[in-house]
Amino acid sequence: MTASPRILIENCAIATVDAEETEYADGHLVIAGNRIEAVGPGPAPAGLPDVSRRIDAAGHLATPGLVNAHHHFYQWLTRGLAQNANLFDWLSALYPVWARLDEPMVHAAARASLAMMARGGVTTAMDHHYIFPRGAGDLLGAEIRAAREMGLRFTAARGSMDLGASDGGLPPDFAVESTEEALRATEAAVREHHDPAPGAMLRIAVAPCSPFSVTTELMRESAALARRLGVRLHTHGSETVEEEKFCHQQFGMGPTAYFDSVGWLGSDVWMAHCVHMTDDDVDAFARTGTGVAHCPSSNARLAAGIARVPDLLAAGVPVGLGVDGTASNEAGELHTELRNALLVNRLGPHREQALTTRAALRLGTRGGAEVLGRQDEIGSLEPGMLADMVLWKVDGLGHSTIEDPVAALVLGPPAPVTLSLVNGVPVVENGRLLTADEEAIARTARTQARRLTTRAA
Ligand SMILES: [Zn+2]
Repeated sequence: MTASPRILIENCAIATVDAEETEYADGHLVIAGNRIEAVGPGPAPAGLPDVSRRIDAAGHLATPGLVNAHHHFYQWLTRGLAQNANLFDWLSALYPVWARLDEPMVHAAARASLAMMARGGVTTAMDHHYIFPRGAGDLLGAEIRAAREMGLRFTAARGSMDLGASDGGLPPDFAVESTEEALRATEAAVREHHDPAPGAMLRIAVAPCSPFSVTTELMRESAALARRLGVRLHTHGSETVEEEKFCHQQFGMGPTAYFDSVGWLGSDVWMAHCVHMTDDDVDAFARTGTGVAHCPSSNARLAAGIARVPDLLAAGVPVGLGVDGTASNEAGELHTELRNALLVNRLGPHREQALTTRAALRLGTRGGAEVLGRQDEIGSLEPGMLADMVLWKVDGLGHSTIEDPVAALVLGPPAPVTLSLVNGVPVVENGRLLTADEEAIARTARTQARRLTTRAA
């Protein structure tokens, strides 16, 4: 048996984001194969065998790779539309366009979304795809292929909608699947793609879209399906006042009580947004271990409100961070969401006590790993964890006068990524993707966006 080659990284600040929030002002990391072998202060131990690369990381901060907990890749082709709309009006404007998607479009959008995030330090991506026009091809397969090409760790959430406008839902009838179709395709996706093994690069989740686009039957059956197959559950929850009103009108209760009634609270569930939560709702999430993907830019763009992140964290709710689809967060990056999460939450009732820079970093790393159910493998820099990590340059023009490197990363301008490793393999070096040609991705995405516009016209 040959030993795994080692990468030594030295002379950098390190924020491990472990349970004790251990940091080193000047430390080292040893990567062996796809795992972290050692992390600590000062230089790496002398005389380690099989060293393939030694990196002098002076002027850098090392953190766990960022984990994105909520996204819709396909929206890369419909950015900048419905600019002054709330969620329901925005969705109503976009559903007819999205209903014209096909496989080459989704593949191009996925590559662009993944490239954008990877360049900004994301090592684990997640996508919630819930629109499957008839005859559009293998849309989930297209994004799985894109993540593999890009070299990112990936959770693909097979979404679904079966509540069209004629049945009281928000989406037009032509944008939804039948309940049976959605369940059958979701089960097939899990059976074909889900890798339950430790260190997996690909996991599948079951993800009906939202209370206003999915029947109660599909919510219930999806929960049963996921638990039978041993995969996680994801959806949108408590995003807007309009959704809250819809739930009261349709179900006679708020969104969280509704989710509870259909078996959707549990430690195997995470939901995007969770903005409009009562104290009882927060308690219910905490009691059941239900996770939250906080999406501050998207919530601001659609005027949804400010999620109660400090209250959720204080109650012990797992909270990660999400880009959300780029039709409601055109920036498409997660490292900038560290800053946005901190700023947005300080506009809420907890003011300057809302989130620290460390808490923001934790949301984007360990918190994301928790909601994806992977906190034993990713989200912190500790011996035995998977080698998903980022070296941020914090001694350049934008950051060199901020003494605290974590403050530089969170409060400063977007920090350049000098190196990111996924599973021990370099994906970004000196700000450039190693696994794909950014210009080619941009060109193809533009071509496919125009195809979509033309088809939808
Ligand atoms: Zn979303």
